[in-house]
Amino acid sequence: MECTFCQIVSGKTPTHFLFQNDKVVVFKDINPHAPVHLLVVPKKHIRSINDLNDDEREIVSEMIMTAKQMAKKMAVHKSGYRLFFNVERGGGQIIFHLHLHLIGGW
Ligand code: 5GP
Ligand code: ZN
Repeated sequence: MECTFCQIVSGKTPTHFLFQNDKVVVFKDINPHAPVHLLVVPKKHIRSINDLNDDEREIVSEMIMTAKQMAKKMAVHKSGYRLFFNVERGGGQIIFHLHLHLIGGW
Protein backbone atom coordinates (compact mmCIF):
# COMPACT_ATOMS: atom_id res chain seq x y z
CA MET A 1 0.00 0.00 0.00
CA GLU A 2 1.19 3.52 -0.78
CA CYS A 3 2.62 5.74 1.94
CA THR A 4 -0.02 7.61 3.98
CA PHE A 5 1.57 11.01 3.44
CA CYS A 6 2.18 10.42 -0.30
CA GLN A 7 -1.56 9.77 -0.55
CA ILE A 8 -2.28 13.06 1.24
CA VAL A 9 0.26 14.97 -0.90
CA SER A 10 -1.21 13.56 -4.14
CA GLY A 11 -4.78 14.33 -3.08
CA LYS A 12 -5.85 10.64 -2.97
CA THR A 13 -6.71 11.19 0.68
CA PRO A 14 -8.63 14.48 0.71
CA THR A 15 -6.98 16.72 3.31
CA HIS A 16 -7.23 20.44 3.94
CA PHE A 17 -3.88 22.11 3.33
CA LEU A 18 -3.24 25.20 5.44
CA PHE A 19 -0.37 25.98 3.07
CA GLN A 20 1.33 24.48 0.05
CA ASN A 21 3.99 25.39 -2.47
CA ASP A 22 6.12 23.44 -4.95
CA LYS A 23 8.11 21.71 -2.17
CA VAL A 24 5.92 21.29 0.92
CA VAL A 25 2.38 20.95 2.21
CA VAL A 26 1.06 21.75 5.69
CA PHE A 27 -1.94 20.11 7.34
CA LYS A 28 -3.30 19.48 10.85
CA ASP A 29 -2.23 16.38 12.71
CA ILE A 30 -5.16 13.97 12.97
CA ASN A 31 -4.33 13.29 16.64
CA PRO A 32 -3.22 16.67 18.02
CA HIS A 33 -0.97 16.80 21.10
CA ALA A 34 -1.50 20.53 21.61
CA PRO A 35 -4.09 23.18 20.64
CA VAL A 36 -1.99 23.77 17.51
CA HIS A 37 -0.39 20.68 15.98
CA LEU A 38 0.62 20.94 12.35
CA LEU A 39 2.74 18.74 10.12
CA VAL A 40 5.06 20.23 7.50
CA VAL A 41 5.57 17.56 4.87
CA PRO A 42 7.79 17.56 1.78
CA LYS A 43 6.01 16.60 -1.44
CA LYS A 44 8.94 14.34 -2.25
CA HIS A 45 8.91 10.97 -0.50
CA ILE A 46 11.90 10.77 1.85
CA ARG A 47 11.70 8.10 4.59
CA SER A 48 13.31 9.99 7.48
CA ILE A 49 16.07 12.41 8.44
CA ASN A 50 18.48 9.46 8.08
CA ASP A 51 17.68 9.23 4.38
CA LEU A 52 18.30 12.86 3.46
CA ASN A 53 20.80 13.44 0.68
CA ASP A 54 23.07 16.45 0.27
CA ASP A 55 20.97 17.69 -2.64
CA GLU A 56 17.88 17.78 -0.39
CA ARG A 57 19.12 20.61 1.85
CA GLU A 58 16.74 22.99 0.13
CA ILE A 59 13.77 20.85 1.14
CA VAL A 60 14.82 20.87 4.80
CA SER A 61 15.29 24.63 4.87
CA GLU A 62 11.94 25.06 3.12
CA MET A 63 10.31 22.92 5.83
CA ILE A 64 11.80 25.00 8.64
CA MET A 65 11.04 28.36 7.04
CA THR A 66 7.49 27.19 6.33
CA ALA A 67 7.09 26.14 9.97
CA LYS A 68 8.22 29.58 11.07
CA GLN A 69 5.64 31.23 8.82
CA MET A 70 2.91 28.84 10.00
CA ALA A 71 3.68 29.63 13.66
CA LYS A 72 3.01 33.26 12.86
CA LYS A 73 -0.13 32.44 10.86
CA MET A 74 -1.47 30.36 13.79
CA ALA A 75 -0.49 33.17 16.20
CA VAL A 76 1.75 31.01 18.40
CA HIS A 77 5.02 32.66 17.40
CA LYS A 78 5.11 34.98 20.40
CA SER A 79 3.92 32.54 23.08
CA GLY A 80 6.31 29.94 21.67
CA TYR A 81 6.20 26.54 20.04
CA ARG A 82 8.17 23.35 19.43
CA LEU A 83 9.49 22.00 16.13
CA PHE A 84 10.61 18.39 16.04
CA PHE A 85 11.40 15.39 13.90
CA ASN A 86 10.88 11.84 15.14
CA VAL A 87 13.52 9.61 13.54
CA GLU A 88 12.85 5.89 13.05
CA ARG A 89 10.94 3.67 15.47
CA GLY A 90 13.08 4.35 18.55
CA GLY A 91 12.56 8.07 17.97
CA GLY A 92 8.79 7.64 17.86
CA GLN A 93 8.37 7.80 14.09
CA ILE A 94 5.25 5.96 12.91
CA ILE A 95 4.80 7.50 9.46
CA PHE A 96 7.88 6.83 7.34
CA HIS A 97 7.59 9.92 5.16
CA LEU A 98 9.64 12.84 6.48
CA HIS A 99 7.64 15.45 8.44
CA LEU A 100 8.28 18.29 10.83
CA HIS A 101 5.90 18.66 13.79
CA LEU A 102 4.88 22.16 14.89
CA ILE A 103 3.13 22.22 18.26
CA GLY A 104 2.08 25.12 20.44
CA GLY A 105 -0.78 27.21 21.70
CA TRP A 106 -0.86 25.89 25.27
P1 5GP B 1 5.40 10.51 13.76
O1 5GP B 1 5.20 9.79 15.06
O2 5GP B 1 5.62 9.56 12.60
O3 5GP B 1 6.45 11.59 13.83
O4 5GP B 1 4.07 11.31 13.53
C1 5GP B 1 3.11 11.00 12.59
C2 5GP B 1 1.94 11.91 12.90
O5 5GP B 1 1.04 11.83 11.82
C3 5GP B 1 1.17 11.49 14.15
O6 5GP B 1 1.17 12.58 15.07
C4 5GP B 1 -0.23 11.15 13.63
O7 5GP B 1 -1.24 11.59 14.50
C5 5GP B 1 -0.27 11.86 12.29
N1 5GP B 1 -1.08 11.18 11.28
C6 5GP B 1 -1.03 9.85 10.97
N2 5GP B 1 -1.87 9.57 9.95
C7 5GP B 1 -2.45 10.74 9.61
C8 5GP B 1 -3.41 11.10 8.61
O8 5GP B 1 -3.89 10.27 7.84
N3 5GP B 1 -3.77 12.41 8.56
C9 5GP B 1 -3.25 13.35 9.40
N4 5GP B 1 -3.68 14.60 9.25
N5 5GP B 1 -2.33 13.05 10.34
C10 5GP B 1 -1.94 11.76 10.45
ZN1 ZN C 1 5.53 9.10 1.17
